[in-house]
Amino acid sequence: MKNIAVIGAGTMGNGIAHVFAQNGYQVNIIDISQNALERALATIDKNLERLLSKERISSEDKSNTINNLKTFTSISEGVKNADLVIEAATENVDLKLKIFKQIDEEAPKNAILASNTSSISITKIAAATSRPEKVIGMHFMNPVPIMKLVEIIRGYSTSDEVTDTIMELSKKLKKVPVEVNDYPGFIANRILMPMLNEAIYSLYEGVAGVYEIDTVMKLGMAHPMGPLQLADFIGLDVCLSILNVLYEGFGNSKYAPCPLLVNMVAAGKLGAKSGEGFYDYSGSRKAENIAKQFV
Ligand code: NAD
Repeated sequence: MKNIAVIGAGTMGNGIAHVFAQNGYQVNIIDISQNALERALATIDKNLERLLSKERISSEDKSNTINNLKTFTSISEGVKNADLVIEAATENVDLKLKIFKQIDEEAPKNAILASNTSSISITKIAAATSRPEKVIGMHFMNPVPIMKLVEIIRGYSTSDEVTDTIMELSKKLKKVPVEVNDYPGFIANRILMPMLNEAIYSLYEGVAGVYEIDTVMKLGMAHPMGPLQLADFIGLDVCLSILNVLYEGFGNSKYAPCPLLVNMVAAGKLGAKSGEGFYDYSGSRKAENIAKQFV
């Protein structure tokens, strides 16, 4: 496996491209937005520069990594020589089904097609292709160059051979892959989101305040960030949408999103990205400065 195509050059796509390129793979990054592609290259450059200044990589490693990257605005051009395509485009079912139909037609017949989706069924995505046995989830964590885990999600039809290939490949990226089956929320979000939801319920019911809830979990459970702050950084709209996937997927009321979360999203309070969530990120308390305390 040598040629990798990454679809989507946003938060996750640029991190995924970075990690593959740094480990010697040829990477085509594809996005409909030329701006997003330029931002992705600039982010990768900045992150490599940081590694260089900490002497974690040499300047030759940096230039080799950059030389391994090419950008495309056309999926057809970007995937035509791919051994593996990893889709990290916007989280939207219809968009992903459309992209997988296209890459199934345009990537080489033996290519493996992976999705970095946080919550959409891999089985459903695979069913949009003529090769469901070669479709798999590779759920990287944010920020990709730093986080070790890759949740490898086996769809209903994913073959053993494809799963083994992707597990081995993830180890070559110096990540720790774990294999999970394709059910709503996989493992990461199935366990994380109910915890965040419970923290929001505790606030909603007046059991404790924001500071108290986050402090209990930070100092009492050694979590690097409290659940309400984490929800702010993930994005309250993203949390709501994943909870709805769990709620509808299992038909179990224990996953029902807290009405406070629903209200905050309706009011446009989406967390760090909108400037306000459980915390205020306006003015000098810029979200990214607060985020740095936790990285
Ligand atoms: P993002 O919004 O930062 O980036 C998405 C990119 O996809 C954008 O640059 C957009 O221009 C591009 N795009 C949209 N339609 C496209 C198309 N048809 N072809 C090519 N590119 C297209 O999103 P993100 O946070 O990087 O999330 C990407 C995926 O990763 C989602 O499926 C999300 O669920 C998953 N994910 C996100 C995180 C996270 O913490 N952000 C963590 C794990 C998984």
